[in-house]
Amino acid sequence: MSPLFPALAARSERPALRFGDRTLTHAELADAAGSLAARIAGERRIAVWATPTLGTAVGVVAALLAGVPAVPVNPKSGERELAHIVADSAPTLVIAEPDVTLPTALAGLARLDAGVGGTDDAATEHPRADAFPELSPEAPALIVYTSGTTGPPKGAVVPRRAIAATLDALEDAWQWTADDVLVHALPLFHVHGLILGILGPLRRGGAVRHLGRFDTEGVTRELSSGATMLFGVPTMYHRIAEALSGDPALAKALAGARLLVSGSAALPVHDHERIAAATGRRVIERYGMTETLMNTSVRADGEPRAGTVGVPLGGVELRLVDESGVAIEAYDGETVGEIQVRGPNLFTEYLNRPDATEAAFTDGWFRTGDMAIRDPDGYVRIVGRKATDLIKSGGYKIGAGEIENVLLEHPGVREAAVTGEPDADLGERIVAWIVPAHAEAPPSAEELADHVAAQLAAHKRPRTVRYLDALPRNDMGKIMKRALHG
Ligand code: ATP
Ligand code: MG
Repeated sequence: MSPLFPALAARSERPALRFGDRTLTHAELADAAGSLAARIAGERRIAVWATPTLGTAVGVVAALLAGVPAVPVNPKSGERELAHIVADSAPTLVIAEPDVTLPTALAGLARLDAGVGGTDDAATEHPRADAFPELSPEAPALIVYTSGTTGPPKGAVVPRRAIAATLDALEDAWQWTADDVLVHALPLFHVHGLILGILGPLRRGGAVRHLGRFDTEGVTRELSSGATMLFGVPTMYHRIAEALSGDPALAKALAGARLLVSGSAALPVHDHERIAAATGRRVIERYGMTETLMNTSVRADGEPRAGTVGVPLGGVELRLVDESGVAIEAYDGETVGEIQVRGPNLFTEYLNRPDATEAAFTDGWFRTGDMAIRDPDGYVRIVGRKATDLIKSGGYKIGAGEIENVLLEHPGVREAAVTGEPDADLGERIVAWIVPAHAEAPPSAEELADHVAAQLAAHKRPRTVRYLDALPRNDMGKIMKRALHG
């Protein structure tokens, strides 16, 4: 396995990171991260106040150089969440941008400014990035909290080996090179934005341009001026799909991109198709988790297929198991099973949660809690989460995602989520939560149920339709189904 940041030691003068009007070359990054690393060496664990800024990226790279486990903290965390993360991860130091006032939960910790390029920086003699010893592959690199979609976030301890393995596999699957320039608009406290979006390009010697916040103008501007890749979550691709019909410059920019990648949640088929129709380009989906980093992807040289997350990445073993834990051998495009994975991409443990760690593994296989089908050629289709997306109704097992995709094709529907609710007759009853496209004229429950029944089997028709102004979503745009109550 190669070292984590071969490109840093090479000290190239090519751009590495750009946030707003602040840019660092790989050589400048090596200096900035090297001097910060020297100041944090020996700390037990550091928190990084993960604003979408240069300082966050430098802080994390510094921690990796120094071998101090870093805990990226969502700056929008609520007080209670923050108190939990601080108590759970017990950092000895916090790195934040100089202009940030930290909340009480973190205010008691020693603080280092992540300011980059100040006078202090220029005057210091920097230890070179390659002066830091390569650490054990099993050493914890990051503690990343899960998105909290299904319960309180858990701290996944991610070793250096998992980061290197997942980035090596993505380099191969995406034909990712040092010439790639990534358009980035994701937060930096989850795997997607931090490991794929920052560490990925840096490892290759490529570049990142962070938009600060997502907007289609920024995507158009960057992809029209040398950027080659876009990584996004489905809510971003949804906004792109909505904007495309009135924005030929956006369509042209996307058509010229080398790679458009979506992940963190299922990309609705309707959005995938609309983007393909307007740009001639298909978004490729990858599937991963905080605990496993990346598991599958459509390959850059493979066939992108709407509604699938592609094939297992290099080094990743993936199997589907039935309810009694027996592996399903046939790839028949029909049988649903829980995804279990094994490989060098896996985390080590949940911090302070031996019970949860123990429950998550079976014979070295990690239980993802996600349900899927495999096509005969091995492509994985995610049906949804076992806990919230698999509805047992009238003796059938029904995936919420399939019904959501059909609802989203209805012109009167802007957003849709499908859940199961207890029902005396059926066991569970299918409930559709709808955000209408036009609030003044929402489609009727009957019209929507008929629309579903016309596309899918009759038993998949929603029995109840509830209308909302917006779906509850977290900072990654994931629908928080546990917040939907009848
Ligand atoms: P928590 O574990 O705290 O409930 P979470 O599972 O949302 O939150 P993450 O680790 O950030 O936290 O997300 C991983 C999950 O995201 C996967 O288990 C899967 O359900 C979903 N996911 C990721 N990528 C995709 C994808 N391409 N298609 C469908 N689902 C996806
Ligand atoms: Mg999870």
